Amino acid sequence: MSDMVARSETIWAYQFRVVLLGDSTVGKSALLRRFTDGCFLEVSDPTVGVDFYSRLIEISPGTRIKLQLWDTAGQERFRQSFLHVVTWAEEARLHVAPRHVSFALVGQKCDLEEHRQVPTEEASNFARLHKMPFIEASAKNGKNVEKSFVMLTELIYRLIQSGDIIMDEQWDGIKCGLVPKP
Ligand code: GDP
Ligand code: MG
Repeated sequence: MSDMVARSETIWAYQFRVVLLGDSTVGKSALLRRFTDGCFLEVSDPTVGVDFYSRLIEISPGTRIKLQLWDTAGQERFRQSFLHVVTWAEEARLHVAPRHVSFALVGQKCDLEEHRQVPTEEASNFARLHKMPFIEASAKNGKNVEKSFVMLTELIYRLIQSGDIIMDEQWDGIKCGLVPKP
């Protein structure tokens, strides 16, 4: 076996498709850019259609997950984006059904404490009620950006391990990767 093949076999155990949802200007693109490029732009172009990114996460030594990241666009620009989280989640669930969709709620722009609209406790209670992990992050200063994606990745990985998510070769949401031969 060539070295190339041997190496590619160990690259990732699974690929998860992760779609960023939320009202326009909440900071979806900025969060993704920080996560994939490590940078932040004060001025960013509005996303048109869907942009694609990818990144590997090593969730435990030797276990890498490839995240296929979809950045979505919308024209909506509301003052109360938190109130629309339910709608976004419902839409995603309907779209993915009958397959499983896992959510993580990210309260973005946590560096702007003086402009806070949603108390942490309110968002946290909401997330608990809807059984999603919750975190506050900032693409600007980098706080919890990595953790946001790791949190979701670990959740999905656990559901696969426990058998709550059943692998389905006909679906691209979760794909089994190449694992090293013993
Ligand atoms: P999207 O429409 O959800 O993709 O939002 P963008 O990522 O394009 O961000 C909209 C605006 O918010 C841009 O001007 C960003 O620079 C700004 N922004 C994004 N994330 C943050 C953040 O964490 N903190 C601050 N202060 N501004 C941010
Ligand atoms: Mg965008």
